[in-house]
Amino acid sequence: MGKNIIVTGGSRGIGKAIVELLASEGNSIVFNYNASSTSADEIVEKIRANGGQAWAFQADLSKFEAAETFINQAREAFGGTIDGVVNNAGITRDQNLAMMTPEEWNSVIDINLTGYFNVTRNVAMDLMKSQGSLVNITSVSGLIGIAGQANYCASKHGIIGMTRAFAKEMRKVRINAIAPGFIESDMTAVLDEAYLKEMKKQIPMKRLGKASEVANLASYLLSDKSTYITGQVFTIDGGMTA
Ligand code: NAP
Repeated sequence: MGKNIIVTGGSRGIGKAIVELLASEGNSIVFNYNASSTSADEIVEKIRANGGQAWAFQADLSKFEAAETFINQAREAFGGTIDGVVNNAGITRDQNLAMMTPEEWNSVIDINLTGYFNVTRNVAMDLMKSQGSLVNITSVSGLIGIAGQANYCASKHGIIGMTRAFAKEMRKVRINAIAPGFIESDMTAVLDEAYLKEMKKQIPMKRLGKASEVANLASYLLSDKSTYITGQVFTIDGGMTA
């Protein structure tokens, strides 16, 4: 039977691929966007045209109250339990530490780390009631240091700590993290071609990953095929950090 699942940052990239896959599997989906209303509307229309159920709401999840409103909207849309949540909304503001502004530091921490707290705090009781599954999208930047990403690495390492603590605390809720390497999306489209060419040399699979490949792993962790897996971090990086 389909589950009721919330995905943050579902309007583009990895979040969009997760929304589309989960909906195609028969789950009902609520997702947020921050600015991309046109893309969000198109995704909802496409899912509904295919007989699925989806709703999109605007929310800047770096704000606690906005996350609270978003979760209330999700409860109302589903009209039932919340069985799964994917914390995915994130940004980069890459800069060498010696040049990094407080704004570049704070915006990344506020969205990537505090945003995950804001959503999880508001949905924690629902997940404990449904004994559901939470998936936090972190990054290989949560496992290793990457030059120019002190803010992003701090946020993504923080998500892994948060995942492990939540898993110990919210018993019977499965809480796992996915750490993608370089995945084709708007986030990596801005990277310098020469830098990407150099990075590909360090990836045994010799290519960037696809958002759909991350979505397959998220789907597994949200499904009843992974009912004894919790508190873990799953790397999906073509072998980059092997
Ligand atoms: P993306 O294409 O840039 O999409 C980011 C998503 O986050 C969009 O839906 C965006 O909404 C939403 N968002 C941004 N700021 C927000 C805010 N303040 N409040 C709510 N939503 C907000 O990024 P992506 O590449 O798919 O990345 C998704 C996740 O995977 C992120 O956590 C990222 O750190 C992680 N990741 C990505 C890669 C990669 O190579 N792409 C690798 C490792 C980890 P709008 O469309 O409205 O702006």
